[in-house]
Amino acid sequence: MTPQQFRKHAHQLVDWMADYYETVENFPVKSQVQPKDIYSLLPDSPPVEAEPFETVFADFKRDILKGITHWQHPSFFAYFPANSSLPSVLAEMLTATLGAQCMSWETSPAAAELEERMMNWLKQMMGLPDHFVGVIQDTASTATLASLLTAREKFSDGGINQRGFANEKFTVYCSTETHSSLEKAIKIAGFGKENLRKIAVDDQFAMQPSALEQAIREDLEKGYQPLCVTATVGTTSSTAVDPLFAIGEICQKYHLWFHVDAAFAGTAALLPEMRPYFRGLELADTYVFNPHKWMFTNFDCSAYFVKDKAALLRTFEILPEYLKTKADAQVNNYRDWGVPLGRRFRALKLWFVIRTFGVSGLQDRIREHVRLAHSLAEKMKAAKDYEILAPVPFSLICFRYKPAHLQDLTKLNELNARLLENINKTGQAYLTHTKLKDVYAIRLVIAQTYVSQKQVDAVWELIQEEVLKL
Ligand SMILES: *Cc1c(COP(=O)(O)O)cnc(C)c1O
Repeated sequence: MTPQQFRKHAHQLVDWMADYYETVENFPVKSQVQPKDIYSLLPDSPPVEAEPFETVFADFKRDILKGITHWQHPSFFAYFPANSSLPSVLAEMLTATLGAQCMSWETSPAAAELEERMMNWLKQMMGLPDHFVGVIQDTASTATLASLLTAREKFSDGGINQRGFANEKFTVYCSTETHSSLEKAIKIAGFGKENLRKIAVDDQFAMQPSALEQAIREDLEKGYQPLCVTATVGTTSSTAVDPLFAIGEICQKYHLWFHVDAAFAGTAALLPEMRPYFRGLELADTYVFNPHKWMFTNFDCSAYFVKDKAALLRTFEILPEYLKTKADAQVNNYRDWGVPLGRRFRALKLWFVIRTFGVSGLQDRIREHVRLAHSLAEKMKAAKDYEILAPVPFSLICFRYKPAHLQDLTKLNELNARLLENINKTGQAYLTHTKLKDVYAIRLVIAQTYVSQKQVDAVWELIQEEVLKL
């Protein structure tokens, strides 16, 4: 492809992209294909001869698109969103065009310095503790792994990096509602799943500090070395908020590392009225939230903050001859701030998003999502035969249909599973589920970039219609 041909195709694609955003509501939100439908459309072998771009693009539209679940559809109420926004897409186009590797300052000074500035902007915008230093990671899973590894090295004085595990008997604490990425990190960091303690939650699904302290004490008595606690603001199942301050105080008392995961709900800290949920964050050693979930920035972009930058660097720093540069002493070489060496230029999309929305534009949209969720939750509470199953601090509603005559848990769970499947089969909206203490709950997240009252009213209508057909 020559630059001239590229220009032509790129213009076509941009037109298609704009059309897509204008008409995305015509697609079924959740892809309706069956397993292997797409695979069997694809040829057994790659083409030996070059194919025209037009053919490839036509096949994309014909074969690929029907196997896509439309995460940017405003009636996407599933999981947590992986949001995008038009300015973010434009930034991704530039990032792809530059194709820069941003591992060191020298490999693209602007990328390193824009990243440093964006992390400081986020701190200001969200009222995060001043002592935090930030870096962009690909995902919250990676950030949590980085946190555990840093804790491991700090508490073993760099020993495990050096000689591997000796007889350390580290234990790590989270709640029964903590995201599975912590368990994955426990396995990878070498602590062993058996040494992860899942602390009980209260009736709002938040970690019980007294149960945490008791578990720490028991482990100390048995000769374990309690190492780290992970708390969550906005758990994945129900957006429960662990009491950061109480947990942080326990961490201080027993000299434990304190990691806070707010992958989805972290964006809510843009709103001053939401800051009370983050009280105690100043006690955390590390903190992560995902602009790629609720802050209208394309995946991947996870904002990771640390209190002790030196401990982070000691964990990951590596300096082979071929990576040494003259500027090393004065700049941030982000390859030393996490696991991968190569890094995409991810700060650019954050810069585009923050500038084109403005802080107040971001706040308005988040505030509107929260308002939409609260008003729908009120409608559900007022309606006959619906039950809200967890508090709604942000914009996720966990609910079920519960007709008065039905008490049996298994039957109610089956009924709601069927309801969810029927809703998703319509293609008009996409919701997912969770279990809250054995109760099957339908999750409805109102956080898609372009969702408005119209789609929220429509999904409530749809739910009620599908209930009548059960
Ligand atoms: C989504 C989520 C994660 C994982 O996020 P990735 O960026 O996909 O790794 C971790 N923790 C919580 C609370 C989440 O909701």
